[in-house]
Amino acid sequence: MTTIQKILLDLNVKELNAGTSTGSINFGEGKTIDSYSPVDGKLIGRVTATTKDDYEKVLGSALKAFKSFRIIPAPQRGELVRQFGDKLRELKQPLGELVSYEMGKSLQEGLGEVQEMIDICNFAVGLSRQLHGLTMHSERPGHRMYEQYHPLGIVGIISAFNFPVAVWAWNTSLAWICGDVCIWKPSEKTPLCGIACQNIIASVLKENKMPEGISCLINGDLNVGELMTSDSRIPLISATGSTRMGKIVAQTVAGRLGKSLLELGGNNAIIVTPDADIKMTVIGAVFGACGTAGQRCTSTRRLIIHESIYDKVINAVVAAYKQLRIGNPLDENNHVGPVIDTDAVKMYLSALDKVVAEGGNILVEGGVLQGEGYESGCYVKPAIAEADNSFVIVQHETFAPILYLLKYTGGVENALDLQNGVAQGLSSAIMTNNLREAEHFLSVQGSDCGISNVNIGTSGAEIGGAFGGEKDTGGGRESGSDAWKIYMRRQTNTINYTTELPLSQGIKFDL
Ligand code: NAD
Repeated sequence: MTTIQKILLDLNVKELNAGTSTGSINFGEGKTIDSYSPVDGKLIGRVTATTKDDYEKVLGSALKAFKSFRIIPAPQRGELVRQFGDKLRELKQPLGELVSYEMGKSLQEGLGEVQEMIDICNFAVGLSRQLHGLTMHSERPGHRMYEQYHPLGIVGIISAFNFPVAVWAWNTSLAWICGDVCIWKPSEKTPLCGIACQNIIASVLKENKMPEGISCLINGDLNVGELMTSDSRIPLISATGSTRMGKIVAQTVAGRLGKSLLELGGNNAIIVTPDADIKMTVIGAVFGACGTAGQRCTSTRRLIIHESIYDKVINAVVAAYKQLRIGNPLDENNHVGPVIDTDAVKMYLSALDKVVAEGGNILVEGGVLQGEGYESGCYVKPAIAEADNSFVIVQHETFAPILYLLKYTGGVENALDLQNGVAQGLSSAIMTNNLREAEHFLSVQGSDCGISNVNIGTSGAEIGGAFGGEKDTGGGRESGSDAWKIYMRRQTNTINYTTELPLSQGIKFDL
């Protein structure tokens, strides 16, 4: 039995050609998407893409499901999410393996991604009893005023390849407790992860005698994504991916006055001040730059180091890079797996050429690994280059393990000028034991990013906080805190329990 056959058996996935799935309908009229594993280069599945007709059927069943789902009390919808979380606990190992095998991240990170799904379910269950609105004092006697939140309808979810399952769960678990139904288009690079997740939620819905239209899956590339973004029957589009994609999606959705939640590219930096703990800095920087082979939106792209400790820090980081083991991500001994495909390898190589052409100095050589275990052609060496923040390539997010080293002089405000001097604004970090520097970094004059960490790297985030970034990162927030509000519409209700009809603002309208 092949790796993928075993994983799919453990996940109880029997129908791979379920290109579109909602209710009991499986469609198969569209073109096929071939999914190759970056781990070994093997074709692991062929999935049928959604056609326009399929899409209409999916939308119809989602609209129908919304009518019944919205009247189920929120805590009961929370119970559904609780059961979904339990199912994920049961299937954590095979789902984590599938994420690792189809996307290429290490097994630990694949399992970690499923754990994030479980964590957001826990969060959403509690939240299902806390969708609070405010009460206000009316200016008119005998009046009561309060606000309440209602579901929007269909939430369209478009996700990126690098978090092939968690991004869906961050969105759906909140959307469901809010009373919305969801249509998900996963990345065309990781369609089997989408089918496995659909299989899991479909079983929970079936056990609860609820229609599968509550959670629908469509497959395909940007053309299928555009069916949703241009569809005014979908009030909210939550899109995760590149800034290039986000700019197109934002305009299309705004053109029909829909709402969008955008989670786009980052260009994240760690500032290392003279008071930094070097050991912690090295762990944060190396995991941040090389974890998930540099393919996290929160990956560390730039290390901004004070000149007084520059040599010490780069020597320590370079020494750590020598310890990295690159290879099959399902083998727990390896730190770095492959990048997603050979196109990503080309972008990585081109970025290394560009940094040299712009005057950068390569400190740790890159390159593509060949030979036994590297047959997919997707294994690349994490590289380090000394560079300048003004380089075009440094300003750009290259989704690969390349770390740029930048030197700063003077105070932390100079480091912040470099950190904030890029178009993106997702994650940021400072390594310092100096309270003044740390507080300045977090202050209004400090980091302009959505996520700002002190003595933690840029990579990863906890479920409890609102996740997202500013500027070219898109401005969206999902996951914890009050991110749920984007999935609902706010209604202000005013009730007059008198026999008079006083107008607001003291206006008289005597008849
Ligand atoms: P991508 O932009 O190529 O694709 C993302 C998704 O958008 C895919 O499902 C794709 O089919 C769809 N898509 C592309 N163009 C579209 C269009 N015009 N209309 C509708 N849908 C469209 O991104 P990718 O290569 O899969 O992922 C990597 C990018 O995602 C990086 O830039 C990374 O930083 C970003 N990302 C951001 C976050 C975040 O939370 N900020 C999280 C994960 C990934």
